[in-house]
Amino acid sequence: MSQLDFFSGGERPTVRKPEGHAHVSSAGRAPVGASEFASEFASVDAETRRALLSELEQSISECTLCKLHSTRNTIVFGEGHPDADVMFIGEGPGRVEDQTGRPFVGPAGELLTRIIENGMGVPRTQVYIANVVKCRPTIDLKFERDRPPEADEVRACSPVLLRQIALIQPKVIVTLGNPATKFLLNTTRGITGLRGQWSAYDGIPVMPTYHPSYVLRQSRTDSGRAKKEVWSDIKQVLEKLGWPIPGK
Ligand code: SF4
Repeated sequence: MSQLDFFSGGERPTVRKPEGHAHVSSAGRAPVGASEFASEFASVDAETRRALLSELEQSISECTLCKLHSTRNTIVFGEGHPDADVMFIGEGPGRVEDQTGRPFVGPAGELLTRIIENGMGVPRTQVYIANVVKCRPTIDLKFERDRPPEADEVRACSPVLLRQIALIQPKVIVTLGNPATKFLLNTTRGITGLRGQWSAYDGIPVMPTYHPSYVLRQSRTDSGRAKKEVWSDIKQVLEKLGWPIPGK
């Protein structure tokens, strides 16, 4: 498979089941004060994690903590393996996600799925996918055009994401785009300057990369630069995990 084949909808390679999960130390930077949960879940099994995630999802099913509750159809909690080695974090649900209750299932989600399954060689169900906010942010709350979440919305919703991270304790986090990267790394620097460089959240290695929707938009104008950069970032993730790199 060529390096960038996962950006097209070609034949899927055989997917590989990742090996057992190793827990990451909770030592390190905790920029938003949420690491208090991390050690609490360091030794629980996958089924307990699944149950706790389900409990957390139930606990926010009628959340009205920020203004996004007034327009949502569905809360999009996140999905994936409770013992995932890799966690992808985006900014918030879009139109299709709001309708289905699942993260990354629109066009950007299709690209993310190809990156995971064709590029990384694991089924999407073996990773965990979530967003910083769980309800769809739209311009002027008209529920027409998506926008990044605002600071007050991130403040209200982010404890849920931090608890998801603490429960799952992935080996690597991949932040997708500016809002997730700025929030998790507690920085004002933009994704262009941060992508491709390892940082850490609460002792967990973080690889920032472009949001798939940016890659889709750029594909028309930048001759594949964004795609190549995302693939370069994903290869670093594969190396960090010790997973094979396709074509190498
Ligand atoms: S975005 Fe988060 S905090 Fe805001 S209403 Fe939805 S679940 Fe609650």
